[in-house]
Amino acid sequence: MPTLKEAPAEAEVVSHKLMVRSGMIRRLAAGVYSLLPLGVRVQRKVEQILREELNRAGAQEVFLPTLNPAELWQKTGRWEVYGKELIRLKDRHGRDFCLGPTHEEVITDLVAREVRSYRDLPLNLYQIQTKFRDEIRPRFGVMRGREFTMKDGYSFDRDEAGAENSYEEMVQAYTRIFQRCGLKFSAVEADSGAIGGSFSHEFMVMADTGEEAISVCDSCGYAANVEKSPVTLKLPENEGGELEKVHTPGAHSIEEVSEFFSLPPYRMLKTLLYVADGEPVAAMIPGHRELNEIKLKNALDAVDIELADAETVEKLTNSEVGFAGPVGLSDVRLVADYAIENIEGLIIGANQTNYHYTGAREGRDFTAGVFADLTVAQEGDTCPNCEAMLSIRRGIEVGHVFKLGCKYSDALDATYQDENGETHTIVMGCYGIGVGRTVAAAIEQNHDEDGIIWPTPIAPYHVDIIPVRVDDETMKVCNHIYDSLEAAGLDVALDDRDERPGVKFKDADLIGFPYKAVIGPRGLKEGKIEIKSRRTGETQLVAISESVSFLENLVSEEMKSVR
Ligand code: ATP
Ligand code: MG
Repeated sequence: MPTLKEAPAEAEVVSHKLMVRSGMIRRLAAGVYSLLPLGVRVQRKVEQILREELNRAGAQEVFLPTLNPAELWQKTGRWEVYGKELIRLKDRHGRDFCLGPTHEEVITDLVAREVRSYRDLPLNLYQIQTKFRDEIRPRFGVMRGREFTMKDGYSFDRDEAGAENSYEEMVQAYTRIFQRCGLKFSAVEADSGAIGGSFSHEFMVMADTGEEAISVCDSCGYAANVEKSPVTLKLPENEGGELEKVHTPGAHSIEEVSEFFSLPPYRMLKTLLYVADGEPVAAMIPGHRELNEIKLKNALDAVDIELADAETVEKLTNSEVGFAGPVGLSDVRLVADYAIENIEGLIIGANQTNYHYTGAREGRDFTAGVFADLTVAQEGDTCPNCEAMLSIRRGIEVGHVFKLGCKYSDALDATYQDENGETHTIVMGCYGIGVGRTVAAAIEQNHDEDGIIWPTPIAPYHVDIIPVRVDDETMKVCNHIYDSLEAAGLDVALDDRDERPGVKFKDADLIGFPYKAVIGPRGLKEGKIEIKSRRTGETQLVAISESVSFLENLVSEEMKSVR
């Protein structure tokens, strides 16, 4: 357990800092980490909970290859779609392979070969395995790695109703899993992203450092990823007027233009140029809002969208960056938020350096080809369910469940025969949990300035025995307690280093053992040890003869409380 006083400079979030400082992980390359013994112990605890709850729900464990032949991924079209995140390689014969970032292809192919009849269904298979994703921004330690451990599971059903049942069962299992890990979380509606499918929920651990923004309605309980949260904007009526070109020197940003005209930002049209699957697109939203790229991508039905670079913007608009607008933009698809439809009196970029138009009107001066909900939900927006006000909170996505439908079973020919010998396509669901990310999320929610405070069910050890002096007499008692606690089924560490007690206490707090059992000379004389709770800081003096049952009770209560 090589603990450190200082966290590495690149560690931005507390879980990353504490995982390195407590000796759980070490960095090998960006987004690539070695797990040290403590890290392995915590990860195994989470995996054990996963196995127990998934097996209890009727799922069965498999282990699928990391090395995936390209042909499978070509059959589903994802060889192209997955983009740069997919780590591709060639074997010695020049054949294409990738390192699995997820396993829908492999498992569906396997099931397609094995399942024949309705009697073989439903089927639910999972694995705990290393995944590879060449993330653009690996960060936060194991939270967003390029190589990481995931539990991925897949359900196979005869029909839609069966698939919904499997989905529901997995939501229940996930709920138990995250409860048992001691996390505060919520299941929120989500976008189904590159995996596709019709319906999905994300399990979010609430934490200020979370990368995800969630819109939450405290009134009706609605919760969704802001990427998914529908927004209905209503702009106040503007004065009409005619299109007029105005010299606006130095006014590039919405704020600058708004100031120039002394008009509120919602009167400005924010025009953002994107390249969607190689084609230029102008996305238009009211000036006071932010664009939601996921919504834009869905509205365009595009595989890949990217904000146009300065050079492209300059070429498309014949001007410096900051003056794009929909009038006179040729060969660019126009897509607008619903709120823009027929709106009068807009101020738009004139595609000419230092010029804007005033008095622009959608439907007269320019016409959007596509209308969609394009903005990010924000604090104070209306709840799509009950019309109360939404608040925005931050969260870490630890798990994700999707209803996949027949996307993969169609592509890979996974079918079965019903009672009458008729052939049907298998209906699928898929379910993922980031194991390392769950561990990190647990730390985000359970720490103080001294270090980690493990929820007992996933603590690397339940008890840390600390001899104040490492002499024969003390060690004899320590060893005895150690053996008895182990025999009682507890996970115990014994800090037999010849160090000052202060050093041991500091390390114990940093590592976050739920209990310290401290044995000093005075206690030894009186036949007593000090048992200190990491979470409450409470200390109790307990007779050595009773210490084992005392700790056993404390620990088993804490294991049970979430079961
Ligand atoms: P994100 O939006 O955070 O990239 P994702 O939607 O790509 O996640 P899924 O494909 O749904 O993730 O993967 C299932 C789970 O695997 C996630 O809920 C998360 O816990 C975990 N996970 C995904 N990417 C990573 C990563 N780069 N490092 C660690 N865990 C990850
Ligand atoms: Mg991802």
